[in-house]
Amino acid sequence: MELGLSEEQEMLKTSARDFLQKECPKQLVRQLDESDTGYSSELWQKMAKLGWTGLVFPEKYGGSGGSFLDLIVLLEEMGHNILPGPFFSTVVLGGLTVLAAGSEEQKKDILPKIASGDMLLTLALTEPSARYDAPSVKTKAVAGTDGHVINGTKLFIPDANVADYILCVARTKKGKNPEDGITIFLVNAKSPGVKGTLLKTLARDKQCEVVFDNVSVPQSNILGKPDQGWPTVKDTLQKATVAKCAEMVGGAQAALEMAVQYAKDRVQFNRPIGSFQAIQHYCANMVTDVDGARFITYKAAWKVNEGLPSDMDVAIAKAWTSEACGRVTLLAHQIFGAIGFTMDHDIHLYYRRAKAGEIMFGDGDFQRAIVAQELGL
Ligand SMILES: Cc1cc2nc3c(=O)[nH]c(=O)nc-3n(C[C@H](O)[C@H](O)[C@H](O)COP(=O)(O)OP(=O)(O)OC[C@H]3O[C@@H](n4cnc5c(N)ncnc54)[C@H](O)[C@@H]3O)c2cc1C
Repeated sequence: MELGLSEEQEMLKTSARDFLQKECPKQLVRQLDESDTGYSSELWQKMAKLGWTGLVFPEKYGGSGGSFLDLIVLLEEMGHNILPGPFFSTVVLGGLTVLAAGSEEQKKDILPKIASGDMLLTLALTEPSARYDAPSVKTKAVAGTDGHVINGTKLFIPDANVADYILCVARTKKGKNPEDGITIFLVNAKSPGVKGTLLKTLARDKQCEVVFDNVSVPQSNILGKPDQGWPTVKDTLQKATVAKCAEMVGGAQAALEMAVQYAKDRVQFNRPIGSFQAIQHYCANMVTDVDGARFITYKAAWKVNEGLPSDMDVAIAKAWTSEACGRVTLLAHQIFGAIGFTMDHDIHLYYRRAKAGEIMFGDGDFQRAIVAQELGL
């Protein structure tokens, strides 16, 4: 059984870790967390030059033809360094959706711009119910003579504050099955009637409320088939869920490394605290959680990469990773004692992101419901 990364993936991992450590120190992470945009355009351009923004797009669209698994490796490192910015929303939520469902014309237009770092995207799916399912899509798009008019409120939309285009998931038809009658629209974020408001979140990530008030969208901006957009949304959600797990695993790994180092360095009662059994058990539990979450995440990612049925694996991965990474960052906090309670220390950056990741794309209970369904219950 071969569970390791390929030579190229190992190289990508190492170079990503080195680059992010150098180019995105925690001081910059904190600055960007407090800024309105939440990202550095200078850093973004450097990442684009390294080929990260085009990693998973075919070469004919300006990408480097990498696989979904390559992207997972990169996202784990981004999570390790808690890189702020719209990479996840642009590449995973936006780019992969366009790649999966866009017309040739749309792909030729959009993907090279994402790859070159010139276009930011996001996906507007969730609404005030904050659920990632079809019945929760209430935003309406009504067909007119020259396209559709969208009305509705989207909530918790990542990076809509900086996105050039928003993929808006709207209901175009009401039927018995809530998964029918959903259409994805490519909306210019500067269109009249689009109003975004930045939310103040616990993780300082940039999530927005986006109101669509009589927003006109031409027919040519429909992504995929009208009324049949849900399978595409589901596919994107599946990829995004496992991608979020990878980011969280990276963050938990970093928290573990920081805590183990501190346990070796911090002396109390004339010995390093790592020599106390209580701390040893904390660390053993942490490494078990991180490794377990990583294996389960990569198993799900591999299945997605291979195009195999993976609903159950993705839900298991997210249910476990959501909670495991929360436990790891909480224990890291505990090991740091009082110093970890201060904002000067970095551990809170990881803890808060683990909390945000836990609920994004569905928390443990949401995912367990999917697992139970897959078990035929
Ligand atoms: C908000 C806040 C309020 C506080 N208020 C008070 C107060 O009113 N009065 C007061 O006296 N103190 C107060 N403290 C300090 C508190 O007593 C210390 O945080 C605590 O004793 C831990 O000390 P430390 O931070 O030096 O951590 P350390 O002693 O370095 O401990 C770090 C980690 O090692 C563990 N550890 C340390 N020694 C052992 C051991 N022998 N066996 C097993 N595990 C061990 C700790 O449990 C912790 O998880 C406060 C701290 C905070 C954060």
